Amino acid sequence: MIAVSIGRGRHKMMLAEHKHLAEQGAELVELRLDYVVRAINLKRLVDDRPCGVIIACRREQDGGRWERSEEERIMLLRSAIAEGVEYVDLEEDIAGQVPRFGKTKRIVSYHNFEETPDDLREIHDRCASHDADIVKVATTANSPHDNVRMLSLISESEVPTVAMCMGDMGIPSRILAGKFGAPFSYATFHKERALAPGQLSFQEMKDIYHYDQIDLDTQVYGVIADPIGHSLSPIIHNAAFRSLNMDKVYVPFRVPREHLEDFLHYSRQLSVQGLSVTIPHKETVIPYLEHTDTAVDHIGAANTITIDGFEKSGFNTDHRAALESIEKGIRRGEDLDLFTGRTALVMGAGGVARAVVYALQSRGVHVVIASRTLTRAQELAKAFRARAVPWNERQTVDCDLLVNCTPIGMHPHVDESPVEADALNRAMIVFDMVYNPEQTLLIKEARDKECSVVTGVDMFIRQAAHQFKLFTDEEAPVEVMRETLTNEIGAVKK
Ligand code: NAP
Repeated sequence: MIAVSIGRGRHKMMLAEHKHLAEQGAELVELRLDYVVRAINLKRLVDDRPCGVIIACRREQDGGRWERSEEERIMLLRSAIAEGVEYVDLEEDIAGQVPRFGKTKRIVSYHNFEETPDDLREIHDRCASHDADIVKVATTANSPHDNVRMLSLISESEVPTVAMCMGDMGIPSRILAGKFGAPFSYATFHKERALAPGQLSFQEMKDIYHYDQIDLDTQVYGVIADPIGHSLSPIIHNAAFRSLNMDKVYVPFRVPREHLEDFLHYSRQLSVQGLSVTIPHKETVIPYLEHTDTAVDHIGAANTITIDGFEKSGFNTDHRAALESIEKGIRRGEDLDLFTGRTALVMGAGGVARAVVYALQSRGVHVVIASRTLTRAQELAKAFRARAVPWNERQTVDCDLLVNCTPIGMHPHVDESPVEADALNRAMIVFDMVYNPEQTLLIKEARDKECSVVTGVDMFIRQAAHQFKLFTDEEAPVEVMRETLTNEIGAVKK
């Protein structure tokens, strides 16, 4: 079950959101009385409630907005119990002052906005000792391992426990709480209005992660990155799992560089079976893998890991996706060889450029690399027997294929392009790795010049589809993934 937190200044808005959530299928909401600015009319908020409520009223020290007296706050919580609400949330230090009455269940809570302390078990037991029906422990994740500790606290506790880490590093603990036996997990009414750091919206928990269908048997996949906020992989992989009725969930794991080894070690405790890997881990992850495929060995970067017991295998799906995007995206007669003997200009010398250069080389393309930092272009060129040119000479390269492997043109810099329109001609294939937006300025200008174009969306879907196959051994529902992605980024469908 998902408990949706509502914090609004006016009773009217609180009631409207409550009603809306119940209509959307919410079974439990947390009414945060500390957000109400005027005198609180509790009866008005709970009398005709459309679904169950948790009444909470947080002080500043617990992450709330309550500034009035402690006596008034405790009186409010007692009144909520007298009204017979489903749950009342009592912080550990006041739980002893508010006795049990009637059928209202007692959530005894602990919050820590600094860290996930070492003595979690003691904290939990202290809360439980205050006649708790449910213990709630909300701490702050300073390492990915804090999620593991909190989820273990849930599964190892006799008293039903809702334990979660706040912050974006703590998101896995919110999504996976039910798998470890938590009676519910918290979400917010709207993603722009999180009431606690890292809280996902009800819609995200329900429609992306399908929280209520996650249980002990659900297999866990995810993406490791830092930062993680921008990743669209959870949206498309979860949509793909759901469309094939697979009991799997795909979770965003923010893993800072210094925690990578630790995360890979403890990921087994979260039953992680497969991972997408992105910036900054594609290269640094390799020493921790027991097996790597040939592409990973050549490219020096892995974007996919499968985990079988203690064995972690690394793959790179970018290079295959790049070739397929060109081959399948360009319709120019069956027999035309788009690669052998042709010349490609690759702009950028980062992670995806390496995979593209490897892919093109393997198909007999002459590759010229231009990158802002010439030495990086030269290093990449040396590794793959390609040619490097200075960035300001890129437009002088006579090429059949032009590939943008830089972020130029990415949202919000949508009016930028890595080349001037005059450098394009209709004989060229223009391939932009940027996928947000799909119709970048480069793609638009290439279309105007009647070039063949391949978008970053094509590429993103194909690399994800190969990951899906590695994760599940089944063909990916590519159209579902494409539609989900284009809906999300508001791209114009072709
Ligand atoms: P990366 O490793 O950070 O490399 C970025 C490259 O772009 C570097 O060579 C960098 O040059 C260059 N660059 C950055 N900003 C630039 C600017 N303003 N002017 C000129 N050059 C610039 O990144 P990556 O992983 O290769 O990704 C590159 C792009 O491809 C990103 O936009 C990413 O979202 C996209 N991508 C798309 C897919 C897909 O499936 N569609 C997959 C992977 C990546 P310096 O060396 O000088 O910093």
